[in-house]
Amino acid sequence: MIREYGWSDALQHAFSTYAARGFQPGRITVQQRGAWGVVAERGELVARISGRLAHEAMSAGYPAVGDWVAVEPPATDGPAVIHAVLPRRTAFVRKAAQTVADEQVVAANVDVALLVASLNADFNLRRLERYLAVAWQSGASPVVVLTKSDLAADPQAGVEEAESVAFGAPVLAVSAVTGEGLDDLAEYLRPRETAVLVGSSGVGKSSLVNALAGEALMSTAEIREADAHGRHTTTHRELIRLPSGALILDTPGMRELGLIDAEAGLSATFDDVEALAQNCRFVDCAHTNEPGCAVRAALEAGGLDAGRWRSYQKLRRELAFQERKEDRQARFEHRRRWIAVHKAARAHMKAKRDW
Ligand code: GDP
Ligand code: ZN
Repeated sequence: MIREYGWSDALQHAFSTYAARGFQPGRITVQQRGAWGVVAERGELVARISGRLAHEAMSAGYPAVGDWVAVEPPATDGPAVIHAVLPRRTAFVRKAAQTVADEQVVAANVDVALLVASLNADFNLRRLERYLAVAWQSGASPVVVLTKSDLAADPQAGVEEAESVAFGAPVLAVSAVTGEGLDDLAEYLRPRETAVLVGSSGVGKSSLVNALAGEALMSTAEIREADAHGRHTTTHRELIRLPSGALILDTPGMRELGLIDAEAGLSATFDDVEALAQNCRFVDCAHTNEPGCAVRAALEAGGLDAGRWRSYQKLRRELAFQERKEDRQARFEHRRRWIAVHKAARAHMKAKRDW
């Protein structure tokens, strides 16, 4: 059962100390008001978190959808108890407030981030750049999905535009109505791997999931079960298995992601801009009117798109603002993590380019 949700030998290994304590492994499928839905070896459980985990959550955050956890099975009729969260491979993090402690994981252990935009109306390259930055920062591989191709006069033009900012991430035009492009998309949704949907409301995320899932979705998305207080409720599962065996994590928190402290992702997305800036004569060039500024030269010569440059500056300013709000220790921790993430993002990019 849990193999189908992505359980691996590496996870089994990480789990051994918990197994010795009589706990079972499970993966979180939904989180709702102090109760967690967990898919475990013998089926779905409703769980609460242990006192210790609740205490730790004040600094480390709560278990998130997609997390692998160590669960104590229910004794009689009560809820199961989550005792620990296994280390995450990847994580989408939302900044709840000013400090690192207020970071909240929105989705964990995601392999592929489907960055969804619609080809008809709201197609916005700047927003796509943000999504790309967020995806690279999470550790997941981005795939740009341009929906409603049936409504676009020239879907290929949209694809090319997106490709100009996507830096090797695949860009696909799809239609949930005609089914166009769905086979191409399916190639990126491998069995037991987890994909997540990012994108504004109305771009067609639900339609996409339904088109990929066919009839099967309705029967798997709803689970009836007892909540943390033993009441029976119908929960909408947020981690869904497609008939192909691929997993889709579709949680409201992921749907609209604002700017995250995505410095690493930002650099990966704006690789070309940062490379340009390194050619400026002065190391601390502000790219305004310094002599020998490679950025201004590229803007004037048309080698760097002005919109792209503005977008980069805006994101930079937001990052700088966020940084100022954090204390020094927090910043240090952040940097360390960013460096690690940056390396991962670059490895991703390289792997993509080498395809
Ligand atoms: P979500 O908010 O991102 O989940 O978007 P929905 O899946 O609810 O879709 C929003 C609207 O767009 C609905 O009216 C859908 O019928 C429509 N829609 C979604 N995908 C397509 C598509 O591929 N082609 C067309 N023509 N309409 C679509
Ligand atoms: Zn410069």
